[in-house]
Amino acid sequence: MRHPCAVHRYSDTIDEQTNERFLSLRNTQAGILDVLFGTIEHFFGDFHELFSRVKDGRAPKKITYSIPALAFVGVLMFLCHLGARRRIKLQLNTDSSVGTFRDLFGVDAIPHGDTLNDAFKQCNPEDFQAVVCNMDAMLIRKKVLYFSRVLDKYFVVAIDGTGTVTYSQRHCPHCLTQTHNGKTVYYHNVLEAKLVGPNGFAFSVMSEFIENPGANPKKQDCELKAFYRLARCLKSAGIMAGNLQ
Ligand SMILES: [Zn+2]
Repeated sequence: MRHPCAVHRYSDTIDEQTNERFLSLRNTQAGILDVLFGTIEHFFGDFHELFSRVKDGRAPKKITYSIPALAFVGVLMFLCHLGARRRIKLQLNTDSSVGTFRDLFGVDAIPHGDTLNDAFKQCNPEDFQAVVCNMDAMLIRKKVLYFSRVLDKYFVVAIDGTGTVTYSQRHCPHCLTQTHNGKTVYYHNVLEAKLVGPNGFAFSVMSEFIENPGANPKKQDCELKAFYRLARCLKSAGIMAGNLQ
């Protein structure tokens, strides 16, 4: 149940209409939480176990939030369409979210977005990639995706690039750049391999970032070069040989 103080705190600072939208969003988030827990437990089992092989690079004494706890908030951030990390603390910090978080991870507050960023920067992205592959493999083992096979045998993997962020100024040495009429934009793209089905479902299998090795390279990275890297990774993971099971 929502704590009445939480409502008053926000109604002091925002108008009634905005408050209604805010409360509606919170109810939506509570619904998303219920569905998320049900889905994870049903298809993938224990959330801690899913991330148990992700190596935590932080000093143990400084750890308040475990990697599974932070990963959970990261998933929620995307499901709730929070566009920025700083909105995590504001919009996920509801009584229902905090209560659920306490039950699951034994901590009394939702972490700040910067905490996620600091922790993930000290982890190996390949560990998270392995989690994604393992989740796909679990769905295949449980025959959840059998309906999407072609000729009752093959899974379809679609590969396509997509933009992630764009800046008007350089944000890191790896930015791709594009200049039109003297104006340069800096951006990051990622090439995604996804298991796709006839009902429109798409399950991420593997990601390859399209980025330059450093600022001002002679030739920029591109989708085709990234495709060859991604194909090698898919092959070494056994996915192109049909071993995703
Ligand atoms: Zn960049």
